[in-house]
Amino acid sequence: MARPGLNVVMLGPPGAGKGTQASRLARHYDVPKVSTGDILRESAVAGTALGLEARERIDQGNLVSDEVAIGIIRERLSRHDVALGFILDGFPRTVGQAEALDEMMQKRSPLTVLHLVVPVDVLVGRLHARRVCGVCGTNADPTKPDVGVCASCGGALVTRADDDERVVRNRLQIYEDRTAPLVQYYRDRPTFFTIDGNQAPDAVAAALQGAMASAMSVAQGGAR
Ligand code: AMP
Repeated sequence: MARPGLNVVMLGPPGAGKGTQASRLARHYDVPKVSTGDILRESAVAGTALGLEARERIDQGNLVSDEVAIGIIRERLSRHDVALGFILDGFPRTVGQAEALDEMMQKRSPLTVLHLVVPVDVLVGRLHARRVCGVCGTNADPTKPDVGVCASCGGALVTRADDDERVVRNRLQIYEDRTAPLVQYYRDRPTFFTIDGNQAPDAVAAALQGAMASAMSVAQGGAR
């Protein structure tokens, strides 16, 4: 039987490893990773109206409006390269966004939702230490010495403005208030999986691939 579309949502708080693991899954299953945060940051650097408006909200750790976030995803998911699937990183972040996404999925394979769980003190520590490439946006490997340049493209490593301690606290609070209710929203679906994100990245990746295999079997009508 043909592989069902891999329409994946990575759910979890800032610092849970969604971006890193979404990139790995995207490479493994050969489907695009779609990150609303990356798209918004790129728009801010390009100086588009959308980006300039979003920049202040991003730097303060506040969400952009549902209308903006949904508009970005609606446009991105209408392109051909996601016909066989996508890995969403950072969307949906509110129940309104999740409802809009369900509507967009009506003629596609069901969503697989991968919920990464990490204790809050670990999240704060990770975000505080996080260094990202100022050019390509890749996260630096925290287990390697910080040599100041990106291992992928050689660009200079920087600290994201929204990884500042005060902003991190705001982002975690917003996650609790606006995004954590999505666990409730999705958790009764047969393609919802909770994964312990407080493990070595390779162990998290293996657990995520195990969940993906179960999701594909559910989508093909098999037992979970
Ligand atoms: P991220 O890279 O996913 O941590 O996103 C960085 C910032 O972009 C967030 O703190 C928000 O300001 C904004 N953002 C990204 N995705 C969304 C979304 N789905 N809804 C609202 N704001 C978002």
